[in-house]
Amino acid sequence: MKGKFPEWLKKRLPAQEKWMQVEDILDDLKLNTVCQSAHCPNQGECFANNTATFMILGKICSRNCRFCAVTSAEPEKVDPDEPANLAEAVKSLNLRYVVITSVTRDDLADGGVSQFIRVVEEVKKIDKNIKVELLTPDFQGEEKILKRLAKAEFEVFNHNIETVPTLYNEVRPEADYQRSLDVLEKMKNYKPSLYTKSGLMLGLGEKEVEVIKVMEDLREINVDILTIGQYLQPSKEHLEVKEFIRPEKFAEYKKNGEKLGFKSVVSEPFSRSSYHASKSVE
Ligand code: SF4
Ligand code: SF4
Repeated sequence: MKGKFPEWLKKRLPAQEKWMQVEDILDDLKLNTVCQSAHCPNQGECFANNTATFMILGKICSRNCRFCAVTSAEPEKVDPDEPANLAEAVKSLNLRYVVITSVTRDDLADGGVSQFIRVVEEVKKIDKNIKVELLTPDFQGEEKILKRLAKAEFEVFNHNIETVPTLYNEVRPEADYQRSLDVLEKMKNYKPSLYTKSGLMLGLGEKEVEVIKVMEDLREINVDILTIGQYLQPSKEHLEVKEFIRPEKFAEYKKNGEKLGFKSVVSEPFSRSSYHASKSVE
């Protein structure tokens, strides 16, 4: 979409000093964050609040979603030191709520689940009261993998539905709407104590009625937490923004979601999966 960037999307500048301090810790421990890889507009605010979303299993993804800034190519070797390094960063940053995500690793037999489990174990060794949210790929819907993951000691399972089903071919061609719903439903069934969570980006050409239908589908499988944010084009090579959704519309979706029974709905232009994540489970 060409034209003027709306006023409500002009984000204030980050607190540089804190930001650089966090970046130094991450660089020293060779860790990636989705905050940096996805060019998230909230970096300043989140880093200043000692919050970051770690991205494990490398910086290169085996899939190629048309909205995503992560590089797609042959993925890297799994770093055996990553779980301990990540726990070290959690300690240094004094985090009480940790979000861990990964690139998709369709090339690995276990989809990378072993690394997720090791990371959770290392973080919980520091303090079992630190809350852990895992934002995972779909693991191709593999039950064996999901069952293994459900045995790990974490509190929130997040898997983003991203967009409405009619846009899947264009936006995330290697994913499948129903499979993503199934993943969320299975994890809830395997581990009922988990909060399940999902997220949507708006502004890709979806219709309002389709957004509401996705919310209904998510509630039908008992998803607890929903995030809705504005899609922003990371580069000219990525999908164009079709529409900038007004903040009032986001507020309306929040109300719709609350009526449908979500425990928490974070719906605002800058909302991302991990934005204000700890508040959703307070
Ligand atoms: Fe990182 Fe999430 Fe904050 Fe963005 S919203 S900067 S991805 S923690
Ligand atoms: Fe980005 Fe995830 Fe798609 Fe990979 S699977 S390109 S990390 S959105």
